Amino acid sequence: ATPTALLVGTGRGAQLGILIKGPEVLESTRRVDTVVLDKTGTITTGEMELLSVHTTEDGSDSEALALAGALESGSEHPIARAIVRGAAERVGTLPPIEEFGNVEGLGVRGTVDGHNVLVGRTRLLEQQGITLPAPLLEAARTAERDGSTAVVVARDGAARAVLVVADTVKPTSAQAVRGMRELGLTPVLLTGDNDTVARSIATRVGIEQVWSEVMPEDKVDVVGRIQDRGGVVAMVGDGVNDAAALARADLGLAMGTGTDVAIEASDLMLVRGDPRAVVDAIRLSRRTLRIIK
Ligand code: ADP
Ligand code: MG
Repeated sequence: ATPTALLVGTGRGAQLGILIKGPEVLESTRRVDTVVLDKTGTITTGEMELLSVHTTEDGSDSEALALAGALESGSEHPIARAIVRGAAERVGTLPPIEEFGNVEGLGVRGTVDGHNVLVGRTRLLEQQGITLPAPLLEAARTAERDGSTAVVVARDGAARAVLVVADTVKPTSAQAVRGMRELGLTPVLLTGDNDTVARSIATRVGIEQVWSEVMPEDKVDVVGRIQDRGGVVAMVGDGVNDAAALARADLGLAMGTGTDVAIEASDLMLVRGDPRAVVDAIRLSRRTLRIIK
């Protein structure tokens, strides 16, 4: 082995905005054949925006926004930040939270203004035996077909509103996916989001294999199942939720814009948050190893 070639490789990586934990990481990239991409923050910007509010006939937009906005101020999720911002812009000051709890992978629950409030996926409400009235269900389905996320608001055991939140696909994601295919890699989309949203985003960037509605603790199992079938997996993610999967993957790549936990669990960090850097990183490692051998 020639340490010089390894150092050249890592130095070139730094120029491309790819930080490599150690030269030995390059070796793990050699056999990678599958790239698992987390959706939010990797394929999309993760900077979400509140687009619209849909209520039941007796419901009011401002009430739903006030309750949801207040409760979501306890959460760090990109969806939560979009709802807090959107609610504050539309209704002004938000009521105080009396009680708050995170329901991992589903949403948030708590007490606001004396009301029991749930904000999150349809499944979060279903768990509590709350059904969605037809107009809200329709609003949620339409949003999801467009690739947006439908967030349901329930007050005291009844569904009150659907908030439509949308994320933006990064302008370079489709190009990154094409680059992966050119290197003979199979791209796979992994997300906790529902299947309709996931497939809409996947189609837009050219990904065929989709794992959707995956609970945070199950992301690592998806990586494991691909490995069990003989796949050698590079995992790309940015969130706290992605840390176990990044560590389990044969190669973990963290978006530099992501959380410290994700960066800690990874082998490579992509400084710019541009998914094309995944392609650069794998190409660079292969080329560097070819020089060494
Ligand atoms: P992802 O990073 O792919 O969005 P998460 O596990 O963080 O996966 O979340 C899964 C889904 O749960 C989200 O797409 C959203 O529908 C819902 N969710 C999670 N947290 C919240 C929250 N604070 N408010 C509303 N919905 C949420
Ligand atoms: Mg995430």
